[in-house]
Amino acid sequence: MPIANMRDLLAEARREKRAVGSFSVSSINMIMGIVNAAEQLHTPVILQVAEKRLRDGELAILGAAMLAAAKQSSQPIGVHLDHGETIECIRRALELGFTSVMYDGSRLPLEENICQTNKVMELARPFHAAVEAEIGSVGKTETGQAAPAICAKPEEGVHFLKETGVDALAVAIGNAHGVYVGAPHLRFEVLEEMLKSCDTPFVLHGGTGISDADFHRAAQLGMLKINIATATFMAATQAAQGAQDYFEMIRRIEAAAEQVAMHHIRIFGVKAKEEV
Ligand SMILES: [Zn+2]
Repeated sequence: MPIANMRDLLAEARREKRAVGSFSVSSINMIMGIVNAAEQLHTPVILQVAEKRLRDGELAILGAAMLAAAKQSSQPIGVHLDHGETIECIRRALELGFTSVMYDGSRLPLEENICQTNKVMELARPFHAAVEAEIGSVGKTETGQAAPAICAKPEEGVHFLKETGVDALAVAIGNAHGVYVGAPHLRFEVLEEMLKSCDTPFVLHGGTGISDADFHRAAQLGMLKINIATATFMAATQAAQGAQDYFEMIRRIEAAAEQVAMHHIRIFGVKAKEEV
């Protein structure tokens, strides 16, 4: 199947009142586990990797594996760069054939974030790739470093969307990357306020540890892409313990990634059965 574009996956999810799981990967086995889950549940997913997780040259190698897995899958699979921070990395991902890129300018002043995001929009256009951006600040970075959680202001979100026209917007509403200390309190009223004047799909980062009820509410309020990373990495680490040899270890990691993905796809909603 051709690699899917995030724009189409999110539009379909909106019609079906569900959210698309976007799963971070770091190896071929994780990629295979997640694609297996998508195929078993007949539901599209997105494979993603964050710029900060990549060492020099790794994007081309891991990206090629993500793209190959998406192409040979029976399900539509998107291939996404998560938390792109440099234009060079975003350009490389687009040239490789990633169907969406995130530019994370959330630590910049709003107007500068708008200006940089618009540069990425220009860059992505000839590739027909979708662009995700972020406002507010999701707590902790995707590699677990401390960062303040700053809840997005609805009026800033509306202004940002008007000035950039991005395909999806990550909105910080009290969510955080990594493991939550105490139950997260998501401020859904921020989304409700923004929905009065825009219908751009929102993205929920830091999905690990959020309750099923909050996932459902987020999806209903237009958080159509939900990122899962920590849950998979934690399950893979645990699954690898006690393996007799390397090959058993990587098979266990693949099975753990598959289980985590199946668990979350079921919560976010499986694809509606096609009419025959
Ligand atoms: Zn994130």
